[in-house]
Amino acid sequence: MDATPKQACDLHVHTTASDGLLSPQEVLCYAASKGLKAVGIADHDTTAGLRALEGLSSPISSVEVVPAVELNSEWKGRELHILGYYIPISRGPLSDLLTRLQDSRRRRVAETVKKLKALGMPVEESRVFELASGESVGRPHVAKAMLERGYVTSIKDAFDRYLGMGRPAYVERFHLSPEECVRAVREAGGVPVWAHPGTARSFSIIKILVENGLQGIEAYHPEHDHSMVEKCLNLAKEYNLIPTGGSDFHGLGKGEGGDLGSVVVPYEVVERLREAAGK
Ligand code: AMP
Ligand code: FE
Ligand code: FE
Ligand code: ZN
Repeated sequence: MDATPKQACDLHVHTTASDGLLSPQEVLCYAASKGLKAVGIADHDTTAGLRALEGLSSPISSVEVVPAVELNSEWKGRELHILGYYIPISRGPLSDLLTRLQDSRRRRVAETVKKLKALGMPVEESRVFELASGESVGRPHVAKAMLERGYVTSIKDAFDRYLGMGRPAYVERFHLSPEECVRAVREAGGVPVWAHPGTARSFSIIKILVENGLQGIEAYHPEHDHSMVEKCLNLAKEYNLIPTGGSDFHGLGKGEGGDLGSVVVPYEVVERLREAAGK
């Protein structure tokens, strides 16, 4: 989507609250240096980054923060993620759900570490938690600990050989179904958006998601080639969904996502999301 530099918005960004490398404050400074108008802070299963920004006495930059969360789910043995825009960040049913998801993440790390030990690759559980400075620990932090010990050649290598779904150190954890994710965001007053649908490699679930309240589809994402973007834009028209986009920035040098501002949408998308949330 064409966005003039002055109104470019990157609506999918991670911070140290989950598996990003930059703190929320650093993300905002970086976004300002890139001339972005708005960034969507969308950490996995946590809004702690957004609360940290809200707690600041003065704004870091003029970049507008679009509050969001990314809920990880699974469908047919694949990762399926739902973004929730304009969700509440204060205490309530959604924050209770996020706390439960974070607990399941911590338990999963303990089990993964056990599996790695049995596979002859001991890593310190405490080191994994150290690498996760925020409240949402994940497999990328385990992968980093494995990389430090020289068991793998990269984070991607760790996922491909050990941590990815169906690999020997993969551990199931509690998560909602995709339609439950959509409903949870909607019930909290947020706007549910199907994140990077291209990575699910099938669109057959879209009707179910729409029936449960889906309001947007992430058309623009580093993992989407031109034909995938077109496909998403057509689905947006067919199902009356807001087409969104973002870089899925996790920090420079990390395997996942692109650089901040490498995938942007015009400010009009922010306005549509805000309107859908009734804000
Ligand atoms: P988790 O949140 O623990 O389920 O881990 C999923 C996260 O790991 C995703 O959000 C990505 O940031 C990252 N990830 C997933 N697959 C890969 C991969 N193949 N290479 C690098 N990072 C990945
Ligand atoms: Fe991630
Ligand atoms: Fe994702
Ligand atoms: Zn993401």
